Amino acid sequence: MAERNFPFTGFSSLAIHAGHEHDPKYAHLTPIYASSTYVFDDAEQGMRRFSGEEPGYIYSRWGNPNMTEAEEKIAAMETFGVHNDQGSQMQVKAILHASGMAAITTLLLANLTKGDKILSHFSLYGGTQDLMNRLLPSLGMEAVIADLRDLEKAEDALKQHPDVKMVYLETPANPTIQCVDIEALSTLAHRYGKIVACDNTFATPYLQQPFRFGADFVVHSTTKFLNGHGTLIGGVLLGKDLEFMNTHATKIHRMLGGNSNAFDAFLLVNGMKTLEIRMERHCHNAMDVATFLESHHAVAKVNYNGLPTHPDHLLAMRQMRHAGAMLSFEMKGGLEAGVQLMNQLKMCTRTVSLGTCDTLMCHPASMTHASVPREDRLKYGISDGLIRVSIGMENIADILNDLEQALH
Ligand SMILES: *Cc1c(COP(=O)(O)O)cnc(C)c1O
Repeated sequence: MAERNFPFTGFSSLAIHAGHEHDPKYAHLTPIYASSTYVFDDAEQGMRRFSGEEPGYIYSRWGNPNMTEAEEKIAAMETFGVHNDQGSQMQVKAILHASGMAAITTLLLANLTKGDKILSHFSLYGGTQDLMNRLLPSLGMEAVIADLRDLEKAEDALKQHPDVKMVYLETPANPTIQCVDIEALSTLAHRYGKIVACDNTFATPYLQQPFRFGADFVVHSTTKFLNGHGTLIGGVLLGKDLEFMNTHATKIHRMLGGNSNAFDAFLLVNGMKTLEIRMERHCHNAMDVATFLESHHAVAKVNYNGLPTHPDHLLAMRQMRHAGAMLSFEMKGGLEAGVQLMNQLKMCTRTVSLGTCDTLMCHPASMTHASVPREDRLKYGISDGLIRVSIGMENIADILNDLEQALH
């Protein structure tokens, strides 16, 4: 068992050991704490627990040992090798949630109040977009959407909307794997006194650490690459203002009730231990698939930020370790060709979501976005023949063979 302050030199060592605590019954892995409440030795201890004078669990909506292990592991990964302004190891606090959407909800409701605005960009995750467009207005809050890939437009939006409180980023993002510059936008936002949050789901902390570039908050859907095996729904909110996270954000999280649970946290802890080797394989395969698709005659266009032809290639290479495992491509034959390709797949899995061992493919125009009017779809970059792929960890020859025969 690694000592609490063992100086890990490698990401995997940290991912495997960080957050783990010795089990009082000597179980190797933290057992699943299937208990809704925790008991007190006496009334005085109950008082001390409630007042925070004595650490300890009380009620599982507030946390339990499995959730704590997952939280500490993610916090360690997001800050591995990252220093604060004073030059010492950055500390952040993580709060595990029932889903990525629950984590984003806590982030927004803990930071924004009536009259506040949030500045964000195009191509956000669908659920986040709905939250901003449909729920926030009814609470007296407003999302301002601008092209944040253009720093001048970002600054114009900040000047034009002094009520903006938070700048919300998601990079890379669907469907064209567009990226925004976390460091430049954080510097700009801070100059105007705004806070910055970043959805790091597609990249994971192995590929990209937004706190390193100045972000104040990071959110994840742990459902995806962090867990990596498609066995749970989960999310996490991380923040570097420890006072805020430990008081107000914790209070809002407990109030909203979007807590995780022992079983999902247990699965997540085990999934995250292999994040580095999984991402290495995912990204390596993705580069090979992108190269293959780019030269295929049935394919009109490949969107992958690892390709020099992608408009955000240089930015992605600057702020990410590798380009990631998400890509999309357009079939020359449009809607019909997209449907046919999906039907011909023999190994790759036809499904939505991302970040599992197997390669996942979906055709937004006939599936996730079938009910969205065509003009609106096209505005988001979802053309008729667009196929989205989450590249898995199968042997590359099999992925390429399946694509080749399906494209034929
Ligand atoms: C899936 C996803 C979410 C939402 O997470 P859930 O776990 O499904 O609630 C948010 N952001 C991104 C980028 C995602 O891919």
